Amino acid sequence: MQRVCRAWVAPYLSHSPKLAWKRPHSNSINSIVGFRYWSTRAAEPYRPVAFYSLRPWPQSTVSRLQSRIKDQLQRFNVVGRIYLASDRGIGGINAQLCVPVCHIEAVQTFFDTLPEFKGATLEYNHGMEDTDQPIFQRLKIMQKPNLVAVPDTLKADILSKAPKHLTPEQWHRDLSTCSNDTLLIDMRNHYEYDVGRFNNATRMNVDTFRESLEVLDELVKGKDRNEAIYMYCTGGIRCSVAGAYISDKGYSNVNMVSIVNIPTPSRRDRLILLFFQLKGGITNYGHFVRNNKVKDSLFRGSNFTFDGRRGERITDDVLAHCHQCGAPCDVLSNCANNFCHLLFIQCPACQKKHEKLCSSECRDVVNGHKEWNHPYDYRSQIRPPLRQKL
Ligand SMILES: [Zn+2]
Ligand SMILES: [Zn+2]
Repeated sequence: MQRVCRAWVAPYLSHSPKLAWKRPHSNSINSIVGFRYWSTRAAEPYRPVAFYSLRPWPQSTVSRLQSRIKDQLQRFNVVGRIYLASDRGIGGINAQLCVPVCHIEAVQTFFDTLPEFKGATLEYNHGMEDTDQPIFQRLKIMQKPNLVAVPDTLKADILSKAPKHLTPEQWHRDLSTCSNDTLLIDMRNHYEYDVGRFNNATRMNVDTFRESLEVLDELVKGKDRNEAIYMYCTGGIRCSVAGAYISDKGYSNVNMVSIVNIPTPSRRDRLILLFFQLKGGITNYGHFVRNNKVKDSLFRGSNFTFDGRRGERITDDVLAHCHQCGAPCDVLSNCANNFCHLLFIQCPACQKKHEKLCSSECRDVVNGHKEWNHPYDYRSQIRPPLRQKL
């Protein structure tokens, strides 16, 4: 049976917002149809869909894709955030979308059949839960110098040295049987680690991916030969770049060792650390845990997401605490003072008590008793002093 899609009306309605939300008169056939739109629109489920592909596109391709993707996704009422970059840096596409469930197949087919992805297999990460409302406010398609923030000195040609990708099953098996001192690196920022992580994972304690590459250098320095290293991130893109970065260093420094089965003679003396990356990231592992009813999930807590959800739950464990009262809580939110915008953990009780504000200073600013006079600083927006006094 053909699936009825209610979301198709949304692009038309979005051009006439009055029509979209006006309850129609009840005595005409049009009004009955109109009322169905009105009454069912909010119930149309959306699904978070993410994918990335590292591609050395020239600038002309990036510009062409930007307008073509925008045109097509608007037709399907898709919202979200897409970054595009050319071969002048780490090139390709990184997309976090919110797609009406009835259009998922059409949207994926659109990307799969774009000539720019010829020869590539796009792997789509679907969110753990559908949502009643879009998790992004609008569709933004932006060009960036690099797909992920990396030091300027990093050359795109390292990407040919990608780490080995393990499926969630292989990943689970390997990490269930390896020794406790196996190096398992969480390639994400400190606040992502705090609310959910794999058992025994190393915390990078960084604010940005750019900083994490320096920390990675330190972590692998002096590692034993024949040692395997595991790394993961939300959906895989950060590990794809980080794994290539460190593999590339291994080749150039010739001071690490390979556990590749039989090195070819020309590579016999080359020393490479072997990196294993979780294919599809934590999101993919979360589906593996749920679909197979895995009782001993190696990931615990919530998988932080950079969208309106602020995370998706993998297990019921709550690993973090409210920054204000110390109660168990792992929901990150932003301070309601838009000048401050601190990303911090605030339990429901504190949200109510402090009106979603992080400090007495922010309360004074919001109430007009004080002016905000701090310069913009990304770090200060994500590093809350513990137990802020109010
Ligand atoms: Zn609290
Ligand atoms: Zn604040």
